[in-house]
Amino acid sequence: MMNKQEMISQAEGAYLHTYNRYPIILEKGEGVYLYDTEGKRYLDFGAGIAVMALGYGNERYNDALKAQIDKLIHTSNLFYNVSGGSAAAKLKAASGMDRVFFTNSGTEAIEGALKLAKKYANMNRKSQDYTIIAMEHSFHGRSMGALSVTGTEHYRTPFEPLIPNVKFAKYNDLESVRALMNDDTACVILETVQGEGGIYPATKEFIQGVRRLCDAHNALMICDEIQCGMGRTGKMFAFQNYDIQPDIITCAKALGCGVPVGAFLCTERAASMEPGDHGTTYGGNPFVCAAVDVVMDIFREEHVLDNVNSVAPYLWDTLENIKEEFPIVKEHRGMGLIQGLEFTAQVSSGDIVKAAQAHGLILIGASSNTIRFVPPLIITRENVDEMAGKLRAALKSF
Ligand SMILES: *Cc1c(COP(=O)(O)O)cnc(C)c1O
Repeated sequence: MMNKQEMISQAEGAYLHTYNRYPIILEKGEGVYLYDTEGKRYLDFGAGIAVMALGYGNERYNDALKAQIDKLIHTSNLFYNVSGGSAAAKLKAASGMDRVFFTNSGTEAIEGALKLAKKYANMNRKSQDYTIIAMEHSFHGRSMGALSVTGTEHYRTPFEPLIPNVKFAKYNDLESVRALMNDDTACVILETVQGEGGIYPATKEFIQGVRRLCDAHNALMICDEIQCGMGRTGKMFAFQNYDIQPDIITCAKALGCGVPVGAFLCTERAASMEPGDHGTTYGGNPFVCAAVDVVMDIFREEHVLDNVNSVAPYLWDTLENIKEEFPIVKEHRGMGLIQGLEFTAQVSSGDIVKAAQAHGLILIGASSNTIRFVPPLIITRENVDEMAGKLRAALKSF
């Protein structure tokens, strides 16, 4: 049995170095807690980046996956499978969208959404150099297409040229979208709540205004719900807080609560693809769809949204109090169980995250001086109190 340092060295000797990882080896999860190889317990307010909505070790979820492993893991999309159709029908009903395509990740869901919008633009005879409008400070993933619409310049620059004619507007600034839009706009892509960029919920005026602009120019509205969807804002999908229906949404992260699965969903009008236009070997296989299917059942039958709506205001008040107590906290933003604290310029989110870890609390940064709170959706008020105690202890050292 290797010791901890040997395990870390083994990994660092083999991995492509794209992450600066914390020197913690996580080994086990239980409810809202994680345990490392040294037996240290962490309260998890990161949920594996907003993935583990049901926490760790949910019995019903685990049993469904174990049963599916024994029956059938993979078939290819040349055939139907039992859990795929069921999961798609449940997603369709929960979102009000018409068509579902399962992918292996959020990034791939974005790729599919962009392909749909491009084909729609071609079919509607927009000029060959139609534009895609994305938002500053957005995050949509790391593949060539998803990166092209990601608003962080230093993520994009090393990989240019990317896909052409992407223009960036200012989030929550409708005039900046209007200024870029015309009849050759193929689509507007935005996160309903910006996650990675620092936890910024969209205003109602902005979302409804973008919807109207898209309608006026026959452009598709794509809501990236990969982080903010699946109940995190207190509605099943974040766009449902805004009384609009997007043409396309993307979903991943908590969709499978730990198994790698994403999806893009569209309305009938936006469903521009036909057989041969798009595909995936793994996407929507029986194993991942068994996860999606049981996640949808657990959300409905075990009232996960009710818990979000009851605990989120308590988390809000708790973080408001912390903001009052610590002058290094500059701003508190968010919606439901996706909230962020922005710190003054001299405090980096990385330092806060490390100090919290020392006190047994897992948090994630979002931009250089914001930390995000994206806990499992099953947390209780007691968990919030415990988090606050650990966070206060960590903040005292700054
Ligand atoms: C995480 C994320 C993605 C990328 O998803 P992956 O599963 O990492 O490919 C895209 N958009 C948003 C808003 C995200 O939070």
